[in-house]
Amino acid sequence: MNDIALKRSLATRYIETEAQYGAKNYKPLDVVLTRGEGTYVWDVDGNRYLDCLSAYSAVNQGHCHPKILAAMTEQAAKLTLTSRAFRNDQLAPFYEELCALTNSHKVLPMNSGAEAVETALKVARKWGYEVKGVPDGQAEIIVASENFHGRTVAIVGFSTDPQSRGGFGPFAPGFKTVPFGDADALEAAIGPNTVAFLVEPIQGEAGVIIPPAGYLKRVRELCTRHNVILILDEIQTGLGRTGKLLAEEHEGIEADLTLIGKALSGGFYPVSAVLSNTEVMSVLHPGEHGSTFGGNPLACAIARAALKVLTEEGMIENAARVGARLQAGLAAIATPSVKEVRGRGLMIAVELQHDAGGARRVCETLQARGLLAKETHEHTIRIAPPLILTDAQADWIVDQFAASLP
Ligand SMILES: *Cc1c(COP(=O)(O)O)cnc(C)c1O
Repeated sequence: MNDIALKRSLATRYIETEAQYGAKNYKPLDVVLTRGEGTYVWDVDGNRYLDCLSAYSAVNQGHCHPKILAAMTEQAAKLTLTSRAFRNDQLAPFYEELCALTNSHKVLPMNSGAEAVETALKVARKWGYEVKGVPDGQAEIIVASENFHGRTVAIVGFSTDPQSRGGFGPFAPGFKTVPFGDADALEAAIGPNTVAFLVEPIQGEAGVIIPPAGYLKRVRELCTRHNVILILDEIQTGLGRTGKLLAEEHEGIEADLTLIGKALSGGFYPVSAVLSNTEVMSVLHPGEHGSTFGGNPLACAIARAALKVLTEEGMIENAARVGARLQAGLAAIATPSVKEVRGRGLMIAVELQHDAGGARRVCETLQARGLLAKETHEHTIRIAPPLILTDAQADWIVDQFAASLP
């Protein structure tokens, strides 16, 4: 066998071994990655790809950012985990820097995004009983249709996606669903026992669905008027992805609870957080909620560096500027197979006509051309490269789509 054939068979063996031992809860593209740097990743055959998924927006800062890496290795050699039974010297500066950056009063650190969502649901319910005066066991939380908030049993229980919830019941009661983007429906659904409305500013997993202009502003007004906590899930939209630090800024509003995760660590480590005002978070007392790894010094050191490079290196402004260029370039590709190009910042979707043969095929063609993207649902390709994307790379992405779209 020559060199190339040897390497090829290596990739195939990884894929076969995964299939043999792994649970089949994913259907990845058949590309086995071994290295990443900036906007690029390399497979075990040495092929280079421009990453247009960024691990679902967890590597907004680019792969293996050297400053985050340095913070991580330095902290890993010093102290990694104390549990919250003791204090550590990274937590306080992490709180301080995160609150200053996001205008928050309080932070509760967790690990995965789903844990941040669960934390917010618990806090909102407790606030409902202790502050709003909802009768015990009656708290109601409203969510939006087509939502994606994670994979725990409580969360998938209020998903409207049959794939996400089918077969996993019975589910937790106390949730009500309204159509996404419809503020009138929210108003009609709010009752005396409603404690919170949980919503994504832009629905990422649903296919980059942008609500009508003014929606979030009205949602904010309704929540304030009816004494309902507004929980914005910014786990995907936050930290620069849409060209603002938080997507709520596009409508000039502030949530009561904001959930961040993913890019909070620049992809090095699972770190999430619930950002809050003082009133809501104050319902939690010692022993009522926690996490062994939440707020550990390694996570805090990584997150501090990840936030620092995001702002210091102008990534948020870059996402706005290059994102607009990329979206305009994609929109200018005149093929009848494209139904719509939409997005904000570097969170962009190309939706194909539903008779165009599906998005998966296009993703496979793009892969062969050195671009990694993943379909969301059947007909939509999400484009979410690291926020350090250059103009030339944006133009290159447009060229690849022009050559790959049916
Ligand atoms: C990814 C994501 C989550 C869940 O985060 P995990 O870290 O996978 O648990 C929640 N909400 C949104 C909007 C997400 O994109």
